[in-house]
Amino acid sequence: MPREQHLILGNELSPAEIVSSAVSSSCRSIAYTYTEPTIFFEYSYDIARLARNAGIANIYVSNGYMSAEMLELFHPWLDAVNIDLKAFRDATYRKHVGARLQPVLDSLKRLSDYGVWLEVTTLVIPGVNDDIRELQDVAEFIATELGPATPWHVSRFFPQYKMAQTLPTPPETLHQAEEIGRKAGLKHVYTGNLGAETDTSCAVCDKLLIRRNRFGISNWVDKRGRCSHCGTRVAGVGMASE
Ligand SMILES: [Zn+2]
Repeated sequence: MPREQHLILGNELSPAEIVSSAVSSSCRSIAYTYTEPTIFFEYSYDIARLARNAGIANIYVSNGYMSAEMLELFHPWLDAVNIDLKAFRDATYRKHVGARLQPVLDSLKRLSDYGVWLEVTTLVIPGVNDDIRELQDVAEFIATELGPATPWHVSRFFPQYKMAQTLPTPPETLHQAEEIGRKAGLKHVYTGNLGAETDTSCAVCDKLLIRRNRFGISNWVDKRGRCSHCGTRVAGVGMASE
C-alpha cells in the first residue's frame, strides 16, 4: 500500500459514490457536517446536486461563515440548514472563535430570505455567553429577523479540550434560556445535551405534534403537513407522517 494512504484516515469517495451509497441505504437526506462543511464546499455542492436529482434532501450544519456568493449559488440545493450562533457579542466571537459575529448574522438573514428551512443552535457556555441579556438578544434576533417559527436549540456545554476548566452548563441556565426564547415569541425552543429528547408542540393549539424518544418518533402531523388536532400548517420540511 502506498505510504501516503496511511496518513489520512477514511476512504476517498466521489460525489456519485456518496449519493449511490445514500440511495442503497434508503437515506432520505444527507447531512454535511463534522467538520465544518464550508471547508469542503465544492465537494458538498457536487454531492448536493446529485442527491437532489436522486430525491435525497440536503442538510447543512455549519458555523454560518459563508459568503453571499456561495449562498447565492448553493441555496437552491439546500433543504435545511442548522447554523451555530455561538454568541451575540462580537468580542466573544473574536476571543473564542477568531471570527466575527456580523457575517454569521448576514448568512442567517440570507438563508431566511431565500426560504431555506433554518434552525439555530447556541451552545450555552458558563461565563462566555450565558448572560441573560445576551441570550435575550439572540432570541430577539431570531424572532424578529428570522421569524418566530425558527427553531432555537440551546445546548448544554461540557468541559472539553481547551475549555476543560469550565464547568458544565447548569440545567437551570438552559431552562432559563428556553423561557427567554418563549418570551421573545419563539414557538420552538429545544434544550440539548440534557439527556432527554425534546418534543415538538403545535404553535397554535400547543398540543403534542412530535414525541421523540430513544426508539424513534411518534407523529401527529397529517399527510398534508398539518396539525392533526387543530389543522394548522406545521412549519418545517418533511414533517408529514409517512
Ligand atoms: Zn394544533
